Amino acid sequence: MRRTVAIVGGGIAGIAAAVRIVESGDAPIVIETRKKLGGRATSFTDPRTGHTLDNCQHVLMGCCTNLIDLYERLGVLDRIEWHHSSWWANPPHEPDEMRSSQNWALFPAPAHFTMSFLRMRGLSFAEKRAIGRACWRLIRMGTRGRIAWRGKTFDGFLGETRQPARAIERFWEPVVVSACNLPSAACDASYAMQVFQEGFLANAWSPAIGISTVPLVELYDAAERIIVEHGGELRLGESAKGITYDGERVTGVATESGFVAASAVVSAVPADRLAKLCSVPLRRADRRLRDLEKIKPSPILGVHLFFDAKVMDTPHLVLPGRGTQWLFDKGLDEEGRSHVHAVISGADAWMDLDEAEIVRRVLADVQWALPRAKGLEPVAARSVKEKRATFAVEPGVDEWRPSNAPDARGGVRNLLVAGDWTATGWPATMEGAARSGYAAAAAWTGKGGVLPDVPPSWLAKALGLG
Ligand SMILES: Cc1cc2nc3c(=O)[nH]c(=O)nc-3n(C[C@H](O)[C@H](O)[C@H](O)COP(=O)(O)OP(=O)(O)OC[C@H]3O[C@@H](n4cnc5c(N)ncnc54)[C@H](O)[C@@H]3O)c2cc1C
Repeated sequence: MRRTVAIVGGGIAGIAAAVRIVESGDAPIVIETRKKLGGRATSFTDPRTGHTLDNCQHVLMGCCTNLIDLYERLGVLDRIEWHHSSWWANPPHEPDEMRSSQNWALFPAPAHFTMSFLRMRGLSFAEKRAIGRACWRLIRMGTRGRIAWRGKTFDGFLGETRQPARAIERFWEPVVVSACNLPSAACDASYAMQVFQEGFLANAWSPAIGISTVPLVELYDAAERIIVEHGGELRLGESAKGITYDGERVTGVATESGFVAASAVVSAVPADRLAKLCSVPLRRADRRLRDLEKIKPSPILGVHLFFDAKVMDTPHLVLPGRGTQWLFDKGLDEEGRSHVHAVISGADAWMDLDEAEIVRRVLADVQWALPRAKGLEPVAARSVKEKRATFAVEPGVDEWRPSNAPDARGGVRNLLVAGDWTATGWPATMEGAARSGYAAAAAWTGKGGVLPDVPPSWLAKALGLG
C-alpha cells in the first residue's frame, strides 16, 4: 500500500524528506507557501532590476555529507565549485592563502594546513603558536571533550587556552561567527568546537568550500521533477494553517484551500511557524513541541554590490577584524557589471541601519580589503536583511531542539519534525536541514537515514579525534 505523507515546508529539510520518501515508494505531498522550493537557501527576483539574486551567499563544506548526497540525488552536484583554499585579507599585503594540502600522504590531517598557516602574514608567530596550542587541545579532547563544553560559551575556551586578543579577532572570531552565526561570547562552545574539529582538523577534504555556480533556486528544479514523476504532489503557493490531530494520531494538514489527508505529517518549517500550526492538545500530547518558543533567531545581512570594474582577485575573501566578514566574487551580472556579495553574520547591530548606511559601512570594508576598489563607488547596491536567518546556537539550546521522530520519551507516532533547528547535532546549516529531512523520512519509512561523517585521517584518529 502506498501511503501519503504530507510535508509542510519546501526548504532543504522538506526537499530531503520528500526525495527519500519517494525513493521508499510512499507519496509525499509538499505544501509550500512560496512559489518555488528552497526556503531560506534560495534566490529572489530583485524588484528594482528584475535580476535574480541569491538572498545570501550559501556556502557548504566537504564535511556536509548529507547535503552533498542530496545534491547528488538531485543531479546538481556538478554545479558546486570546490575550493581547498580560503583567502584572508591582510592589506596592504596580498591576502594570505590558507590551503588544505591534498597531499594526504605527506600532510595527513591535522597537519594539512600547517605549511600555509605558518606562511600567513596576518598573524604573528606568537599568535600562530597560541592558535596551534588551542587546536592541539581540540584534537586531544575529541568528541567527548567537546560535549563536556556544552552549555558554556566558546570564549571560555579561548580564555582557558590563553588566546591573544588579536588571534581571537583575526582567526577564531571570523570562523565562529560565519559558521555558527553567533560570536564566541554567545555561541555554545560545543558547536564552535565541532566546526574546528570536524570542519578543519579531522581530515583534509572537510574544509573544502563549496559554492554554487548557478543561482540557488536552480538547484531545486530537479526536486520538483523527481517528486511529481514519482507520484508525489507539489502544492506551491499554498500555506498550511494547522496540523490536524484526533487525540491519538495526526490525520493531515489544513491548508488555506482545503484539507490534505495523510498517513503521516513531516513538519519542515522553522520552530516559530510550527508553533502556529499545532493545537494546544497536540502540543500537550507531544513533548517535542513544548519548548518551540525557546528557540531564538539570529540575523544575517547580505549586501550585493555592483561595480563597473573588476575589484576582486580571489573567489572569496575573509575580512578579519572588520564588520563585514566575507566577500564573494560573483562574476559579471547580466549587465556586465562586477558583482561582489558581502556577508555579515551575527548581524544584530546592523538590523536597524538603513540601506544607505549599510552600504557606506560595507564599502569602507571593501575598500580596506581590496586595493582595486579604492575610490570606486558601486553603481548599484542591494542589501538583504534576514532577521530570522538561523536559530541561535546559544548555550542550552540542545535542551529545546526536538528529535526528528518520537523517541522513548514519547511523541505522536506519525508526526515527524524536520528543519535545521531540530536535534541534528549541527549548527543552523543546510547540512543540518538535510540531515533532519533524511532522519524524518527514515523514521517513517524504515529506509535510508542520515549518512555518516567524513572519517578522520589515520593520524587525527590516532591523536584522539575520532
Ligand atoms: C542569509 C542567510 C545565509 C545563510 N548562509 C548559510 C551558509 O552559508 N551555509 C549554510 O549551510 N547555511 C546557511 N544558512 C542557513 C540555511 O539557509 C538554513 O539552515 C537552511 O536553508 C534551512 O532549511 P530548512 O528546510 O530547515 O528551513 P527553511 O529553508 O526555512 O524552509 C522552511 C520552508 O517552510 C515554508 N513555510 C513556512 N511556513 C509555512 C506554512 N505555514 N505552510 C507552508 N510552508 C511554510 C517556508 O516558506 C520555507 O520555504 C543561511 C541562512 C540565511 C537566511
